[in-house]
Amino acid sequence: FFRGLESAGLHLNRAQLQAVRHLNGPLLTLAGAGSGKTSVLVSRTGYLIACGNVDPASILLVTFSSKAAAEMKERILSLPGLNSSDASKVTARTFHSFFLYLLRTRGYRQKILSSSRHQQFIIKMILREMGLQDSYDAETLLSLWSAYRMNMVGLDELTVKTPAEVEQKQIFARYEAWKQEHEHMDFDDILVWSYQLLSTDDRLLSSLQRRFRYVMVDEFQDTGLLPYELLKRIVAQHRNLMVVGDDDQTIYSFNGARNEFILEFDQTFPGARIVTLDTNYRSLSSIVGLGNELIRFNQKRRPKQLRSTRKSSSVPLYVRPEDPDREAELLLAHITDQVKEHGRSFRDFAVLYRTGNDSRAFFEQLVMREIPFIHYEHTELFYEQWIVKPVMDHLRLSLHRRNFTAMEGLIHTLYINRDAGMSFIREKDAPRPKKGPLAHLLSYPGLKPYQIESIRARLKLIRTLHALAPVDAIKEIRLRFYNKFLEADERQEATLHKEFIQESLDELEASAKRFERVEDFVEFVDRLIVVHREMAAMKRDEDADAIKLMTIHKSKGLEFPSVCLIGASEGILPHSSALHAEKLDDHHPLASKEEKAAAALEEERRLAYVAVTRAKDELIISSPAYCRGRKTEVSRFFRDVFARDEQREESAAAIRQTAASSSKATLST
Ligand code: ATP
Ligand code: MG
Repeated sequence: FFRGLESAGLHLNRAQLQAVRHLNGPLLTLAGAGSGKTSVLVSRTGYLIACGNVDPASILLVTFSSKAAAEMKERILSLPGLNSSDASKVTARTFHSFFLYLLRTRGYRQKILSSSRHQQFIIKMILREMGLQDSYDAETLLSLWSAYRMNMVGLDELTVKTPAEVEQKQIFARYEAWKQEHEHMDFDDILVWSYQLLSTDDRLLSSLQRRFRYVMVDEFQDTGLLPYELLKRIVAQHRNLMVVGDDDQTIYSFNGARNEFILEFDQTFPGARIVTLDTNYRSLSSIVGLGNELIRFNQKRRPKQLRSTRKSSSVPLYVRPEDPDREAELLLAHITDQVKEHGRSFRDFAVLYRTGNDSRAFFEQLVMREIPFIHYEHTELFYEQWIVKPVMDHLRLSLHRRNFTAMEGLIHTLYINRDAGMSFIREKDAPRPKKGPLAHLLSYPGLKPYQIESIRARLKLIRTLHALAPVDAIKEIRLRFYNKFLEADERQEATLHKEFIQESLDELEASAKRFERVEDFVEFVDRLIVVHREMAAMKRDEDADAIKLMTIHKSKGLEFPSVCLIGASEGILPHSSALHAEKLDDHHPLASKEEKAAAALEEERRLAYVAVTRAKDELIISSPAYCRGRKTEVSRFFRDVFARDEQREESAAAIRQTAASSSKATLST
């Protein structure tokens, strides 16, 4: 078996072999990025089957992201020395898909609420019924509730003191009631119900225990309390649990992931074997070095230092472009130059960023230049997101009062049902088309005074917008219709999603700054939408030769020849929400304020670490000087290396030169 692996190019080192050859009992492999944790997991699967005489059907591998689960399965299928029928009997799934399957076999037929938008819609509906629509943000409430549930705090366990907490608990209770009444379940229900099922149905539990004699978990650092308890039940008898993970890569604590589990594994499973891997096979030594240097500042971790096998004199490149639009130009010029002149492929490049909003400029230029790319988050364009689109629709209406599509896009912001409202408008419009759709709404039956006031205000506003510079027009819209919601609310302690809303609107302003007239801006955006639709209509192939765009969160466990980390600036990474995290409610709902603040910043640092360690051969870290219209410092995580790196000027100049000599961006500004 090992000879097979070697002829496939995988010479396992001693520590790796120890872990792979481990047959029975608990095992923790705790190791840094790129040290072969996933490789060990996959190899051990092969070893158990080929050399340990283990029935492949009794092996269960679980992880959190579906991309990682799919990749694991694929790597098992291509293991040398394993026939494909054996390999396909191995169960490799995400936690959620595994337990959903279990629920389905036990007759749970509920529909899945698979889109967070659908969940938010339900919460918004409940808020409106309770007259609280201006007091809470639906997304914040959902993540808070999810964090409670992943920490095994249900409605019965949830103790409330302040009036706000009482209110929140009522909202959660109504949400649960809605799901029950409409026969739906959300992702958290999958785990919560499975736990209840395994706690009450002994026969089911013992049949699972007999079936899955070998359980392995990748990315164990992402495990929250509830999934961990589920695992513990399944392995309670045989204790054949192997977990691999890296405490430095815990980046899902807002979903309830808890670093302690990995740090205290041997207390939970006395006698557990611990194997540490300390050799990174993925990245050039300079990249490994940067990773080490970056992460050692965190307090809550097991100290470890990765060695590298790929000595190299090249260093990561540090660039500081003016703003995200320049950043996208610069890096794309570099990438296209590499592809055209140096025989590299688009698929070698991954562009990583902290939040979806940070990809706006990059996305835009890729679309306009028709460079092939795969975007893993939204298939949705920035300008079509739910926060941004109504603002654009105000602008569109200001240009053409009879733009019905735009009207349809903003009608919900008046708390009027879209379909009913639009058919009312159309009816009114036939005899009196001059009036315009928004004005027709004034006679919509059953309007509350605040709605009438809001329609009037919008009519007035829309008349003035087209004469303003686009950025000022957006400021006006925000001032009148968004700030009230974002600022007025005292009850809402959790500010995370408020920040994201502000951030989206700031980004929209930054984008609009490039245009002088509302008309030009709207035309640009609409053209972008058309090109984007055409590109999206082409079938997306995972293996296509295309640049990959994804959040750092999505990139975990993956590796790429070249990585561009964009937005390495204060307020972006670390994200501004972490800088005043003591206000956050949904990070660690059970921790103190100081703990939250420190933990949030450590988590941001781990994100930086994850991003850096995805790169094999080339790493470019870019820190725009202006982000969302504000001057920003280089990210504290990279400040030292930016300042110290002597080659910085040289390397930055080299990229800038490529940028200048390559074809200029075709954006008409
Ligand atoms: P991450 O922390 O990012 O999930 P990981 O620890 O799971 O990383 P792998 O993805 O398993 O690391 O391995 C990283 C790279 O190193 C892969 O390309 C893998 O093929 C290679 N690799 C692992 N072990 C060896 C080895 N002994 N010899 C050569 N290459 C190896
Ligand atoms: Mg891995």
